[in-house]
Amino acid sequence: VIEKGLPLKTTITTCAYCGVGCSFEVQTQGHEIIRLVPNKNGHANHGHSCVKGRFAWTYALSPERATKPLMRKSIEEPWKEVSWEEAIAYVASEFKRIAEKYGRNSIGAVSSSRCTNEEDFLVQKLVRAVFRNNNIDTCARVCHSPTGYGLKAAFGTSAGTNPFDSIRFADVIFIIGANPTDGHPVFGSHMKRRLREGARLIIADPRKIDLVKTPHIKADYHLQLKPGTNVALLNALAYTILEEGLENRAFIEQKCDKISFGKWMEFIRREENSPERAQEITGVDAGLIRAAARLYATGGNAAIYYGLGVTEHSQGTTAVLAIANLAMLTGNVGKEGAGVNPLRGQNNVQGSCDMGSFPHEFSGYRHVSDYQTRALFEEAWNVPLDPEPGFRITNMLTEAVYGNFKAIYVHGEDLTQSDPDSNHVIEALKSMELVVLHDIFLNEMSKYCHVFLPGCSFLEKDGTFTNAERRIQRVRQVLPPACGKQEWEVIQEIAQAMGYPMHYNHPSEIMDEIARLTPTFRGVSYEKLDKLGSIQWPCNEEAIEGTPVMHREKFFRGLGQFHITGYVPTPEKPTRRFPLILTTGRILHHYNVGTQTRRTENIIWFKEDVLEIHPSDAQDRGIKDGELVEVTSRKGSGFFRCKVTERVQPGTVYATFHFPESRANIVTTEISDWATNCPEYKVTAVQVSAVAKE
Ligand code: SF4
Repeated sequence: VIEKGLPLKTTITTCAYCGVGCSFEVQTQGHEIIRLVPNKNGHANHGHSCVKGRFAWTYALSPERATKPLMRKSIEEPWKEVSWEEAIAYVASEFKRIAEKYGRNSIGAVSSSRCTNEEDFLVQKLVRAVFRNNNIDTCARVCHSPTGYGLKAAFGTSAGTNPFDSIRFADVIFIIGANPTDGHPVFGSHMKRRLREGARLIIADPRKIDLVKTPHIKADYHLQLKPGTNVALLNALAYTILEEGLENRAFIEQKCDKISFGKWMEFIRREENSPERAQEITGVDAGLIRAAARLYATGGNAAIYYGLGVTEHSQGTTAVLAIANLAMLTGNVGKEGAGVNPLRGQNNVQGSCDMGSFPHEFSGYRHVSDYQTRALFEEAWNVPLDPEPGFRITNMLTEAVYGNFKAIYVHGEDLTQSDPDSNHVIEALKSMELVVLHDIFLNEMSKYCHVFLPGCSFLEKDGTFTNAERRIQRVRQVLPPACGKQEWEVIQEIAQAMGYPMHYNHPSEIMDEIARLTPTFRGVSYEKLDKLGSIQWPCNEEAIEGTPVMHREKFFRGLGQFHITGYVPTPEKPTRRFPLILTTGRILHHYNVGTQTRRTENIIWFKEDVLEIHPSDAQDRGIKDGELVEVTSRKGSGFFRCKVTERVQPGTVYATFHFPESRANIVTTEISDWATNCPEYKVTAVQVSAVAKE
């Protein structure tokens, strides 16, 4: 019921779905939200939005929200509602008991790319300063950790190089392993506008995504490669550029490390990287590869945009390094209209990584073994800190199964649905003595938890998110927390109950601490964010209002570093029993495992996951369009509604993963990226068969 007669109030906040980071005006009357309107002054969206951001916020009002802390001694027992005091005291005493009994490395935490920078900073502080280890990881582990690793190694910072608006200056757009019109819709439409203005387009994707051919847009080259072969394709593009003398020698001379370039050149010129060899591996015609390479190298400003189709592979990091090689080879870094631009899936993937949520790095990507950085944090936090990197999520789970890891605090993440090999995750959770979940809904993972702490939706939070272009924007509270406490307050109270003094009065004070301890954030404050609207880091003495285009004069690391990127096929191969390759992705209307979008009542949403299969593969199996099919891998099976389409090529099937009932993550493999353990969600050998009876 709208409170009549009250004035309409407008509050500016940031969308909590994808990494575009659209700014919204939230119109409220009393405690009623009237509507969300895209903010014309939003620096990432300029008054545009997609259907999710504009309408899919009513989950915040869902009666299914858990608003009271819940506890139980064992997962077989029913939940019991308890007070915040009781829940926090129990969590703190259990973490202390377990650390004393099994050692301080037996406890840890996982933070979320959905939460604010301030919350993520506090979770890693809880782990480092209170748990006294580095067992902190983020759900970015399962999406863009190869981006963090690869771009830091090549350029010196774990971040995209250019702002979204830079696309207005792009002459060539190269999209690999991303589907912007579904995954990043507002940026996808900005991309379409630039393409309609005449920019040329190269797409490397196993599917015919919409941008391959849509009204007034047709990709110049669609390199329809087999899943798992990105590195071979990228190497062949580089091979062609060098073979035809199209590289930018002046750029390389001036800005790149000569020794690494020399070694890389020797490697890339080998026959194994030729387009002909790549044709055998990827299935893409060698002539097409050569033509695309020429366009990328000579078409003017060329910008690369990539997504999880690059990172979620056994060679995810290698592919990111190969993309960086390609951009440096052609001088397409450090200027408008170019760059290497990861399209981050979740709203705060960039921010959660920036905040020190990885087990080896403090905020600002500084290694925990670095004495000077550790001394800075030790002085600020008044505790000695562990110089050894901690456990990644995968290590925590495996160690739990071995009996060495006993307690976990999970903030805003469903490990059972978002991480690969759900059966292994469940076994690990069942092996622990304390599993604490802090989230807005009870979810699949809560079945295996001892304590559930209710969380806040973005409409109940104050803080900041950092989008895919390093843009820090304010999140402003418009509703009181349904559970009575802000999430940062809960983390602070756990720390206090464990005996560590933590006394912030507002998230702005947490940001002030982040700025004091993080060189790339030194100039960031809420006051400046309110004045400027947003800030792209680095923001410090050298860049008082932030840095839209990075690496202009020189690379952040000094000289750009080339890396050898040998193609190593994934061990996951089609077999007689599992002859098809499954790859996964999302649709515009839903978001990840659907926790929010499936609870939105004010729009008709798609109701089940879909499996796309080529007509010839469907015919071979007697499968008809619209039928329910079973997808089986060596890990398990799931059920999907079948769509017979030529969007996928023979031998490849594609599934969405928004509905836990379809069990997509039961089907996917345990294989992961060699450098970061990011799971290989994009390649699983499967069989598809019709379900006899629905
Ligand atoms: Fe939200 Fe992304 Fe849609 Fe923008 S494009 S409204 S950030 S989901």
